Amino acid sequence: MSPKETLRPETLAISSGRPAPGPDALLNPPIALNSTFHAGGEVGYGRYGNETWTALEEAIGALESGPTLVFSSGMAAISAVFSILPVGAVVTASNQGYSGVMTLLGNLHTSGKIEARFVDVSNTEEVLAALPGTALLWLESPTNPTLTVADLPRLIAAAKAQGSGVAVDNTFATPLIQQPLLMGADIVVHSVTKYLAGHSDVVMGSLSSRDPALLARLEDARKIGGAIAGPFEAWLALRGLRTFPLRFERAQANAMEIASRLSSHPKVAEVFYPGLPGDRQHERAASFMKGFGAVLSFTLHSDGVHADRVCESSSVITYATSLGGIESLWERRRRWAGESMTVPESLVRLSVGCENVEDLWEDIVQSLEKA
Ligand SMILES: *Cc1c(COP(=O)(O)O)cnc(C)c1O
Repeated sequence: MSPKETLRPETLAISSGRPAPGPDALLNPPIALNSTFHAGGEVGYGRYGNETWTALEEAIGALESGPTLVFSSGMAAISAVFSILPVGAVVTASNQGYSGVMTLLGNLHTSGKIEARFVDVSNTEEVLAALPGTALLWLESPTNPTLTVADLPRLIAAAKAQGSGVAVDNTFATPLIQQPLLMGADIVVHSVTKYLAGHSDVVMGSLSSRDPALLARLEDARKIGGAIAGPFEAWLALRGLRTFPLRFERAQANAMEIASRLSSHPKVAEVFYPGLPGDRQHERAASFMKGFGAVLSFTLHSDGVHADRVCESSSVITYATSLGGIESLWERRRRWAGESMTVPESLVRLSVGCENVEDLWEDIVQSLEKA
């Protein structure tokens, strides 16, 4: 074990992915703008490797405890995973996953490339029943946007025991609160766009795996599929990653406070946040997660029109989609035609940022009043 492996995540985020030290050596990796390399080396060409990606890969890899590849977006990383499955492979996945993944799996299913089985991942028995014949179990937890929690340790162990591959989208939870590779998952994917980069200025993805043969196939998929990240984006993402643990801790503390205040607001019908002691997911989440994240959702006693007006009435919180940045964002999820019909009309998803919690709360209260 190298000394690095004993370091804690707050330190790894700061110390990993740096050039080797030496007199006048760079502290930060450069933005390496090269398509072309002199012959005879290991990289060979700009689509095969890049010094700035490598630095970011080392840092994400240190946090996720597994060698990592970065991609041009979260969806590019996810597409690379599905691209290496044999034709007709069964993929069992959450029926309430990220909308892009739902669409991609639906398309792959319709065209006959894979067979998608959608399950409620918070219902362990339902997932276990769908496992026989599954080539890949695709898990996302907590789920978007109702924050249900899958029993990751149990589901990963069960899938591995019967020979299925397991991939986990760890975007919402982040490696600070759960590390699926250490629970036995084969692949972890991230939309680096969200918490890891954290400043709403980069679109990027990653995948990590401790299985060298699998990682080599995925690296080939990136080389040949061509969904490579830009060096400038990789550099920005790494700069953002340095403060990821700090940002995440603050956002998470804000989320806990806002979730509990929302629970007793008269206009709010229900709050979905696994950190609340009364949340239906709390006990399971607390059994294996080190925190509860910084995304929460709530429904109103009124309809979708009113929920839209609430989102439009804020001045501190930005009315926008996405999550994981330093700034708080909210939106009514059903404003998207592609959102699942199982999501309540009035459900507002709030990605809690790093602002002062009292400013956020005052903004929420005035928005609920004004609308
Ligand atoms: C945003 C997101 C993605 C897609 O990532 P992009 O970087 O937008 O391509 C995948 N999964 C989850 C959970 C996300 O939130």
